[in-house]
Amino acid sequence: MPEPGAGEVLIRVAGNGLCHSDVTMAEVPREIGEALGWEMPFTLGHEAAGWVAALGEGVTSVGIGDAVALMSSNSCGDCRFCAAGRDSLCESNMVGRGYGRDGGLASYVVASIDRDVVPLGSLDPTTAGTLTDAGATSYHAVSRVLGRLPRFGNEHPKVAVFGIGGLGTFTVQILVAAGDVEVIAVDPDPAKRARASELGAIHTLDGVDSGTRSQLRAIAGPAGVAGIIDIVGTDETIECGIRSLARAGVFALVGAAGGRLNKPWFSTLPHEAEIFTFQGSSRSDVEAMVELAASGHISVDAELFALSAAAEAYEKLQQGALRGRAVVIPD
Ligand SMILES: [Zn+2]
Ligand SMILES: [Zn+2]
Repeated sequence: MPEPGAGEVLIRVAGNGLCHSDVTMAEVPREIGEALGWEMPFTLGHEAAGWVAALGEGVTSVGIGDAVALMSSNSCGDCRFCAAGRDSLCESNMVGRGYGRDGGLASYVVASIDRDVVPLGSLDPTTAGTLTDAGATSYHAVSRVLGRLPRFGNEHPKVAVFGIGGLGTFTVQILVAAGDVEVIAVDPDPAKRARASELGAIHTLDGVDSGTRSQLRAIAGPAGVAGIIDIVGTDETIECGIRSLARAGVFALVGAAGGRLNKPWFSTLPHEAEIFTFQGSSRSDVEAMVELAASGHISVDAELFALSAAAEAYEKLQQGALRGRAVVIPD
């Protein structure tokens, strides 16, 4: 049972979402972890939410029993990035809860009241931890894409989402909530396409292959697709996405499958298209996700596992056999 210090709270964990990066982190050798500033070993879990169970000295802004979600990555609160509300860029964020310090795959965790705690109000904390990473990362990507989409006349720009897993279902819902774009959901799994349609995607395509470019053009028109959010990130999805873009279109790479683009940029890229990558999310993204969930615009697709069955949950995650996000609940 960890003890909250001054300015900290003890949280009884309600649920913790599992992330692909947990699997990568579990394989990091001790010396590399230590070089990153991690305290080795540590408990995994960076998508935690729960209830305040005890208050450290000086904490007055929350009460016992309040439902809260926890920011995962560290942020200093003082640097120029934090001051501008862009704490996803804070240089102290190579360490966080669940990577380098003890995370949410536990019954209790401690959290800093100033930097880590996001109040949930009446939202159920069991699956709300997923909003802090899968949800907020999706929000971070979508808000930047929406700000840069080419818009002409009264057309609703079309945005394709490659990969409808944990992040993909959030991404589709955030785009739909924004209201003025048409979503094209792309995934080889028919159940995931059906879920994307339920969530408001207007068009679906069955995965990225040699025919996808012409299918996208059939939907978006010969000028190409205004925006593509690639949550897969293989050679195939990156090339297909970039070559399917409209002039001044935007391609956002979220997926970390390690894909490359081997074609010459200048002739492959449509005129004035933009390509960018995302990492992490800021507190404002988490707060926006909590608000969207509280107002009923976002539902969390979660498969629940007991903490004692966490290994089984990770196995299903690695096999791609989950529906939505795995959430582990203390026994
Ligand atoms: Zn993660
Ligand atoms: Zn900072």
